[in-house]
Formats: sequence, C-alpha cells, structure tokens
Amino acid sequence: YIQTDVNGAAEGQRRRVAIIGAGLVGSLAALNFARMGNDVHLYEYREDIRTAELVQGRSINLALSQRGRKALAAVGLEEQVLATAIPMRGRMLHNVRGRTSIVLYDPCTKQCLYSVGRKQLNEVLLNACDAFPNISCHFEHKLTTANIREGQMQFKVAHEEQLISTSADLVVGCDGAFSSLRQQLVRTPGFNYSQEYIATGYLELCIPAKNGEFQMPPNYLHIWPRDSFMMIALPNQDKSFTVTLSMPFEVFAQLKTHQQLLDFFRQHYMDALPLIGEEQLIKDFFKTRPQHLLSVKCKPYHFADKALILGDAAHAMVPYYGQGMNAGMEDVTLLTSILNEQLPLDEALAKFTESRWQDAFAICDLAMYNYVEMRDLTKRLSFRCRKWLDTT
Ligand code: FAD
Repeated sequence: YIQTDVNGAAEGQRRRVAIIGAGLVGSLAALNFARMGNDVHLYEYREDIRTAELVQGRSINLALSQRGRKALAAVGLEEQVLATAIPMRGRMLHNVRGRTSIVLYDPCTKQCLYSVGRKQLNEVLLNACDAFPNISCHFEHKLTTANIREGQMQFKVAHEEQLISTSADLVVGCDGAFSSLRQQLVRTPGFNYSQEYIATGYLELCIPAKNGEFQMPPNYLHIWPRDSFMMIALPNQDKSFTVTLSMPFEVFAQLKTHQQLLDFFRQHYMDALPLIGEEQLIKDFFKTRPQHLLSVKCKPYHFADKALILGDAAHAMVPYYGQGMNAGMEDVTLLTSILNEQLPLDEALAKFTESRWQDAFAICDLAMYNYVEMRDLTKRLSFRCRKWLDTT
C-alpha cells in the first residue's frame, strides 16, 4: 500500500541514518529518509506499540489537520488514515446548563479536522516502515548518551545489562518533549533553549458507547469552556469519546474525595456526568495524577551534518491548538523538500533550521494563546460560570 518510488541514492550518498523515537514523527521521518535511499535505523524506547498489551503515553486520540494530512499524503498514507478517522466539522460548545451550540470550522468549503487514534496512526506508519528493506526497527532501545560530533550512540536495551554502542552518519532526534538528543545539543555552542511549564494539568476520562452508539453527536470537537478550566472530547472509532479535563493543579488538588468530585461535576459539567457515569468518573479520576504540560523553544535544530531534532524534541507545545503532531509532521515535509534539493547535508540542515524556527516559535505561542481563547469561549457564549475556587 505504500508507493515504491524510492529515489535510489547513488552509492556514496547512501547514509546510515539513526532516528531516535518511533512515535508519530519518528516513524514518518524514517519513511521519508528510506524513500531517499538511506539506510535507516529506527530506535524506540518502548516495546512495539503494535504488539504491546498496555500502551502508555499521552492523549489517546488527536485532531489531524491539513499539515499532517499533507505529510501523510506524501508517503501515500493519507487515504488509509482517513478511512478510519472521524471528521469533526466544528466545535460543539456545552454550557453549564447542558445546552449546546455549534460553531462550524469552515461553513463555506466545509474543511474539517479529523479525530485519529494515536495508536492506530502509529501502527499505520510502522507497518509502512516494515515494507522498506532499508528500515530496521529496534524496539526497547533507549538512547542513553550520544557523541553527536562522532555520530556515536549508546542504548540501554530491555533485559540486557550491557549498553550497546552503535554509530550513524546522521542522528535524528524524534524523541519527544524530553528529548535525550536535545540534551546533547544543549551542550553545543550557539544552541539556545527555553522551556515553560504551565500551571494547568490534564487527565483523560472516557464517555463510553451506549448500546453500541455514540452518546453525543460524533462529528464535532466537544468543548465545555469554564473560564479557568475546561473539558474537551474527541470521538473514537469504537463510538466512545476521549475526554480531556484541563484545570489548574490547585483545582485538581482540592478534589480529594468522591463527593467533592461529583459535586464539582454536577456544578460544572452536569450534562457530561451521566454520560461518563459516576462510578467510572471516580475510578478514572483517582486512577492517575494530572499530567504536566510543557512548551519548548530552541534553535538551531541541527548540528553540522551530524544531528537534527524534529517534532516535539524541537518544539513541544501545549496541546490547545491541536497542532503539535501536525507541526511535527510538517517538519518532515519541509525537511524532505530541502533534502531533495541535493545541497551538501550541512547546508541542507542549516536551511531547515532557518526555514523552520520562526514558524515553530509562532505555533508554540499560538498554542498558548488558544488555551485562553478556548477557556474564554464561556464569555462569548454569554453564560456565566462562577469560579469554583471562589465558592469552595
Ligand atoms: P512523541 O509522540 O513524544 O514520540 C516520541 C517517541 O520517542 C516516543 O515513542 C518515545 O517512547 C520515544 N523516546 C523518547 N525518549 C527516547 C529515548 N531516549 N530513546 C529512544 N526512544 C525514545 N497534536 C496534534 O497535532 N493534535 C492534537 O489534537 C493533539 N492533542 C494532544 C493532546 C494532549 C493531551 C497532548 C499532551 C498532546 C497533544 N498533541 C496533539 C501533541 C502531540 O501529542 C505531539 O506533538 C506528538 O505526539 C509529537 O510527536 P513526536 O513523535 O515528536 O513525539
């Protein structure tokens, strides 16, 4: 199902490329490097997501938009992904009384977002990697150290005492917001880096299917905006919704008992409570701690012709603009088009940094602004919500 128009690299141009992280961006990057004829080694800390019994990590589903679709189309996978994705044509806003209103994303040309399962999308990308003889996947390999000047890496392999050492001509860090490769870049002169945690955390809940059907209209991104906190829900293939509750950590900390949690939901999310179910809410809410959210800006994204970071490793952002994965995939689109210009590799990577950093910084900022925008939809809908903190 994947196009086989691999641009055969001339002997001598064929590089050994190590990609760290087989998440959404790493597996897409592997496909692109392989199509250019490189010898690609994809190293992933976790076990193979396709065979793992329990998949840990962040958000269960994601909003796929044009940036991501274009990148998937370039490797012949867009149709396959959209076949199981659920279109979301607009926002469905839920007020405190449970009344809803709809704001379409694009009433004229009817463009929309798609809800995709993280695991399913990652599986599609990894299956596509399997079709390339020049991609080798190494699961349960955690990068521990790297000498980026020499292209040397060490990995901790699951169930093995000894670290293994290997080398590559180019090391590409797609290892997420806490990137180990970025930690090596931080030590190189001229590398600027900043990170910001926000005071808001999130946890995921679920609105299950009922009698095999969705409990809310499926073709919307559902939002419960409540001033200083909010909840959103995206539809899943199995007719459930994944619900993300975002609030300041101090509000999470005040919900200590089952009764406090139920009272809080009755006050703020009265229509969602029966859909989630009281027992399930209590179970899911107290099962995990709220997760932290981080925004990362850095520059440059490369070191000479030896190392490069993409995706969250280069520009992690808060999730409220729904663009983290999409922007990471767009990195791969841009990088591939620059590499196809056949410049010397150091020049190509420098051109990538120069062409990318301003857009990446901007999208990190937009994600921050959109958090405020989404919470404050409350005001625009002109219904009032007393701040829970003030009343307890
Ligand atoms: P990751 O997905 O973090 O993948 C990194 C991979 O590297 C992982 O598989 C990890 O195991 C591996 N790894 C880490 N360290 C090592 C190591 N040392 N050695 C080897 N492997 C390693 N984005 C959107 O576009 N739309 C959305 O709707 C959206 N919703 C979101 C909702 C939430 C709650 C959150 C938290 C994020 C959301 N995002 C969304 C952002 C999106 O999840 C990320 O931008 C995206 O996952 C980044 O992909 P990545 O491959 O760069 O990093």
